[in-house]
Amino acid sequence: MSKRVLVTGGAGFIGSHLCERLLQDGNDVICLDNFFTGSKDNIRHLLKNDHFELVRHDITKEYFAEVDQIYNMACPASPPHYQYNAIKTIKTSVIGVTHMLGLAKRCRATILQASTSEVYGDPKVHPQREDYWGNVNPIGIRSCYDEGKRCAETLMMDYHRQNGVDTRIIRIFNTYGPNMDMNDGRVVSNFIVQALQNHDITIYGDGSQTRSFCYVSDLVEGIVRMMNNPQKFIGPVNLGNPSERTILDFAKLIIEMTNSNSKIVYKPLPGDDPTQRKPDISLAKKELDWEPKVDIREGLTKTIEYFDRKIKENK
Ligand code: NAD
Ligand code: UDP
Repeated sequence: MSKRVLVTGGAGFIGSHLCERLLQDGNDVICLDNFFTGSKDNIRHLLKNDHFELVRHDITKEYFAEVDQIYNMACPASPPHYQYNAIKTIKTSVIGVTHMLGLAKRCRATILQASTSEVYGDPKVHPQREDYWGNVNPIGIRSCYDEGKRCAETLMMDYHRQNGVDTRIIRIFNTYGPNMDMNDGRVVSNFIVQALQNHDITIYGDGSQTRSFCYVSDLVEGIVRMMNNPQKFIGPVNLGNPSERTILDFAKLIIEMTNSNSKIVYKPLPGDDPTQRKPDISLAKKELDWEPKVDIREGLTKTIEYFDRKIKENK
């Protein structure tokens, strides 16, 4: 059945794919964004759809609309972007989430919060399960993001317990795909853009830290299943691809797949950079019958094509 759906951060990387999917499913979508890291280019093709509405708004200010579901995706996700205005980042996760929860309460809407693997910090438990409470520095350069997202989870649970709001929490692990910002500083965009231009590939630290990369269409499937699951399973649930690799191996894979002449160079490791990250997705398998399907080479091929096109457009 068609629903009125609000997607905050809908012009961003994941949000834009989510808006597209929700329209395909026959919903009416309000895409709300302050365009800090998002772009109209990501959703331009949706603007002519009568069931799509774009609103420029910042969730740190109140917003009113009659909706059935809220996907709260708004928050810069790349470390350079979320550290650019750290105070704004934490306000987005605390004040912004409070506003969205207030809206959900008033409309009796279901609200899904995009949380993150960063709530586990530099994890001492590997792979990460949802019942692990994490190892997070409260005063470091990543804290505005990590602690903001942890507080957002607390707010979600308190609105659920205290006010009966229908909440869902997903913990997203590193996701990649088309519509990532070329200059957002994350490893996937940096390495591909560097490789395609035969520039040096910048590894921070010695490259032994690990990440597990999930293709965006897999993630979006998990997000939609979580919002609509009939058991009213509220999470938190990990959504990510458990296939783990070192950053050095990832750099080599990108060089190979782009046929690049780039050389690897080593730069200082930023503070509090997690040494390992891999989701345990047994809960998502059990509750949502979900697991990623897209192989890394297939996902990277599409992502490389996207960045190649963007680089040519910008010339
Ligand atoms: P993104 O930066 O591409 O998208 C975030 C969007 O939110 C942008 O369009 C931005 O303009 C918008 N935004 C930021 N602050 C806002 C505010 N105060 N009001 C309104 N809009 C605002 O990032 P993404 O990768 O698409 O991430 C989307 C969500 O998923 C974020 O909440 C992020 O924390 C979470 N997440 C992403 C990943 C990942 O690997 N991509 C991993 C874990 C969690
Ligand atoms: N990284 C890197 N070179 C880059 C960008 C990132 O070596 O040009 C590393 C970064 O230090 C981290 C990993 O790649 O260990 C993933 O970084 P990203 O910013 O994508 O996300 P994170 O998982 O750290 O939030």
